[in-house]
Amino acid sequence: MEKKVTKIGVLTSGGDSPGMNAAIRAVVRTGLYHKMEVFGIMRGYSGMIEGDIMKMESKSVANIIQRGGTILKSARSKEFYTPEGRKQAYENLTKLGINGLVIIGGDGSFRGAKIFSEEFDIPCIGLPGTIDKDIAGTDFTIGFDTAVNTAVEAIDKVRDTADAHDRLFIIEVMGRDSGFIALHSGIATGAENILVPEKKTDIEDIIKTLVEKRGRQKLVNIIVVAEGDQFGATELSKIIMERIPGQEVRICILGHIQRGGSPTCLDRLIASRMGYAAVECLIENRYNVFVGIVNNKMHYIPLDQAIKRKQKINEEWMKIVRILSS
Ligand code: ADP
Repeated sequence: MEKKVTKIGVLTSGGDSPGMNAAIRAVVRTGLYHKMEVFGIMRGYSGMIEGDIMKMESKSVANIIQRGGTILKSARSKEFYTPEGRKQAYENLTKLGINGLVIIGGDGSFRGAKIFSEEFDIPCIGLPGTIDKDIAGTDFTIGFDTAVNTAVEAIDKVRDTADAHDRLFIIEVMGRDSGFIALHSGIATGAENILVPEKKTDIEDIIKTLVEKRGRQKLVNIIVVAEGDQFGATELSKIIMERIPGQEVRICILGHIQRGGSPTCLDRLIASRMGYAAVECLIENRYNVFVGIVNNKMHYIPLDQAIKRKQKINEEWMKIVRILSS
């Protein structure tokens, strides 16, 4: 028979995302509701290795649901890649009697959790916290909705000035390996073109379209580029200016503003549901899975499956961009 989980450790790891606090709150309060003890582990796996762990009470998570960032702080830990580092982490957990873990982070954090759960008898539950939405098996990840809405607000503002001067703007949004922020924010702001890492960028087509649009006096253009696109905003602007004489191009790189800010209603809601579900998983002995939501239902996916698969960009959406921006 599986051991009963009585003491939970919760941590946030890897890239931070808005809504992580709402998830921490849900884990702590659901754990306490079930008469468990809950411990907050600082700075992801680093705090586990250093023993930077504190007991959480209901009031420890008061007034945080609306705050961006993470009260537990986040980090990347080189030591956790080593068996010695993970052993140290395990010893720190056992000293406190922690016998279940909730890891809020991206696929890297899940990879670490999978290895840790295989090496030691501590079940791990992952909650997908990433602005990139690049984890397959869930319709939502905590932080994506906030990040994409921040991008939309910023792109709308850029469009105002682009419109005043009849300008072409290239706006770079986050997404090193994933184009979801670019795709969603680009469609929502009426971008003329959206470039994503998942798809080869057809530079000839971009030039041809811009020339054709200039020919019919459509001068205001917004191209949204994910940072992981093969060219990126700077390179793309150089190519366009070289290839189209007289074409001015302005660049705007949105950067880290997309990670911060108060989480949207949707992010708070999914973080609360997922945090609650994580504790339920530990109670029901549903171990070493991450929590996803598909068609509004909770799904529990083995941690190793989060690692192998990435979400695919919907080709029809790319077609919509082209049709609606013509
Ligand atoms: P994210 O969780 O946002 O994808 P990272 O990929 O940086 O972020 O992963 C966060 C942390 O998870 C790493 O710093 C490391 O401590 C741990 N981790 C990632 N991959 C592994 C692995 N293969 N083995 C052990 N730990 C890992």
